[in-house]
Amino acid sequence: MELFNIYESLGLSRAVFDRGEAVLAGLADRFRAIDQTAEYNQAKVLSSMQKNRVGANHFAATTGYGYDDDGRERLERVYAGVFHTEAALVRPQITCGTHALTVALSANLLPGDELLSPVGAPYDTLQEVIGIRPSPCSLAEYGVRYRQADLKDDGSFDYEAIRAAITPKTKLITIQRSKGYATRPSFSVGQIGELIAFCKNIKPDVLVMVDNCYGEFVDTVEPSDVGADMTVGSLIKNPGGGLAPIGGYICGTQTCVDRCAYRLSAPGLGQEVGANLGILPAFYQGFFLAPTVVAGALKGAIFAAHLYEGLGFRCVPSAAEARCDIIQAVELGSEAAMRAFCAGIQCAAPVDSFAAPVPGDMPGYDSQVIMAAGTFVQGSSIELSADGPIRPPYAVYFQGGLTWQHAKLGILLSLQKMIDGGLTTL
Ligand SMILES: *Cc1c(COP(=O)(O)O)cnc(C)c1O
Repeated sequence: MELFNIYESLGLSRAVFDRGEAVLAGLADRFRAIDQTAEYNQAKVLSSMQKNRVGANHFAATTGYGYDDDGRERLERVYAGVFHTEAALVRPQITCGTHALTVALSANLLPGDELLSPVGAPYDTLQEVIGIRPSPCSLAEYGVRYRQADLKDDGSFDYEAIRAAITPKTKLITIQRSKGYATRPSFSVGQIGELIAFCKNIKPDVLVMVDNCYGEFVDTVEPSDVGADMTVGSLIKNPGGGLAPIGGYICGTQTCVDRCAYRLSAPGLGQEVGANLGILPAFYQGFFLAPTVVAGALKGAIFAAHLYEGLGFRCVPSAAEARCDIIQAVELGSEAAMRAFCAGIQCAAPVDSFAAPVPGDMPGYDSQVIMAAGTFVQGSSIELSADGPIRPPYAVYFQGGLTWQHAKLGILLSLQKMIDGGLTTL
């Protein structure tokens, strides 16, 4: 059977299919480099699992307090081995990425301390955590002051502004690796390392936390390899490999992670409590699969950028740029185009393919958000998904795909819906 026949039955026209094949023909070298990164990272994960002697007995469920949970402790050592940190906190009790970041910040900032973001405004949900937008229980309410150094117009670090913003009270510096819902560049681990070195040179005892959401396994090194004291992320993004149904992680120094554990559970209890409730097989297996799942997602992002840039849409990162995370922003210019794009992603899904995404209010976000996600794990954005706030430049943030093949279909169907809606032409 010809490949096109099965795609046709899924709603794709010959013209869009052919355009996709033409774009793909030029991507062999990029895809090979992605596979090499995945190969390295696969070995890195395997090595840590073997060194830590993961055994079938570590998949057992615990309940209640979860004292002496060897499977949970072993998993945390596996994460620490991959991130090359002294310690790690990897828990289903961390409900999402925002929660992991909140734990890391509130555990290590005390009243009177200052928090600095040297990379402009943080991710939408963090703004309420910090108190940039007033919110009950924000860090601001607890007397933590926030400073920000914006990026320069070209997206680079404004070192003079950063130097001026570091004061004797600066306790913690937060660096967001991925662009989030902003159209600034995401940062490479190398760039983050330079920024950390600059800040620690000015104030050697300052703590650095990196929001690593969407960045895990994109490179062969992680922020923890270049000086971050805490590297933080969500398990329903990259490191969960699509299998983790919930959770977050904080990898870092023993001192920082101890404090995070005390904040997450209670002073005195720390890492000793927290039953795993039978979730560990998904955490281990998802982490094992994560390097190749991330590779598939990266291929999808690069394919999307080449396809849409060829049609005249601005893409961030651009088609030719190196990747620092799995997010691909495409500036579509109108709400109608965002709706069509998301409809295409949704109808490619294995779950809820019959649903029609519409913009709605979301807790933690100050504009309406449209989301396309027909996912096995609710809201999982390592699975094929697209979302974006309904505000200029009307950019959709496309990410994920548990397999490259699924990402490809979703992207082609997004274009099909745009064409069917008269929003672009080939
Ligand atoms: C997704 C994300 C978060 C928040 O994670 P949630 O799991 O949605 O709470 C924080 N920072 C960045 C950069 C993200 O992409």
